[in-house]
Amino acid sequence: MADARVLLGRPVANQITDSVLERCNAFEIKFKRKPRLGVVTIDSPASQSYLKTINSTCGKTGCEVIEIPLGSDPSPESLAGIISPLNDDPKIDGILVQTPLPKSVTTDQIGSIVDRMKDIDGITPYQAGLLFRGSKNALVPPTARAVMEILGFYRIGIQSQEVIIVGRSLVVGKPLGILMLGLNATVTWCHSRTLSLSTISKRAAVLVAAIGKPNFIDSDYVRPGATVIDVGINVDEHGTLLGDVDMQSIDSIAAAYTPVPGGVGPVTSACLFANLLDAAEARMKSG
Ligand code: NAP
Repeated sequence: MADARVLLGRPVANQITDSVLERCNAFEIKFKRKPRLGVVTIDSPASQSYLKTINSTCGKTGCEVIEIPLGSDPSPESLAGIISPLNDDPKIDGILVQTPLPKSVTTDQIGSIVDRMKDIDGITPYQAGLLFRGSKNALVPPTARAVMEILGFYRIGIQSQEVIIVGRSLVVGKPLGILMLGLNATVTWCHSRTLSLSTISKRAAVLVAAIGKPNFIDSDYVRPGATVIDVGINVDEHGTLLGDVDMQSIDSIAAAYTPVPGGVGPVTSACLFANLLDAAEARMKSG
């Protein structure tokens, strides 16, 4: 097979940020203020790098970002002390608590504090419930939304296709599978206890890797002609960014794949702002 097509994230992200910019301008004219994102920041290299991307994407969308540091060892009480003012501030439309979280707090705890109408990360039980029910109004975790945007942009149809997702986290694997099911894909989730992973993954017309292990998926896991979506972001000891997929190994087998860097990552931060506009517009509509 010839070399695979590389599905770049930048054109997808640009299309999304252009549309967010338009919506943001209309929002500002109507409500005399810009949509505003509150980011609770974590002091780690990965989070700081994501924060840079958020601020740079924000610049293209006309939205506003404010940063509130979480501190190194927050208790559930101090977490509530940081998030509650954001919940109560009428000028904050969306709240994002960065990861990786310190050991003292969990995603569930955050999901129980964040105002469900400002939950642009899709972690509250309310938003997860809307997604599960197939509601078009759900605020979907940005990474899952990003993968769907990439498939749509490059016209990779998943209806009636077998999709295998390796990873079942609350913010990536699970919501993505539900979205794909909604488009009539036949979805299988795999995880760390899956037996004979490569036998299963080789069935996939679309294979998604959301594992967090550098270069884990190689040619042994990929069916000839498959589309491979690499969600992984890993940093090696030299500071190099690596995906979960060994791009060189699959290049002559897959039909198409997203690279790391430059694939899902930029689309995710664009989708974060698309979610912010969804949340801002919905809040203002409901008064
Ligand atoms: P996570 O919460 O750590 O989940 C990892 C998943 O991979 C789990 O479901 C785990 O299975 C599964 N897994 C681990 N080892 C495995 C193995 N040997 N075989 C099969 N499955 C295995 O991570 P996450 O938050 O979903 O993130 C996944 C990756 O995406 C990370 O690299 C993260 O940095 C990256 N990420 C990227 C973006 C982006 O914008 N591109 C956004 C978010 C995250 P169990 O459930 O059994 O433990």
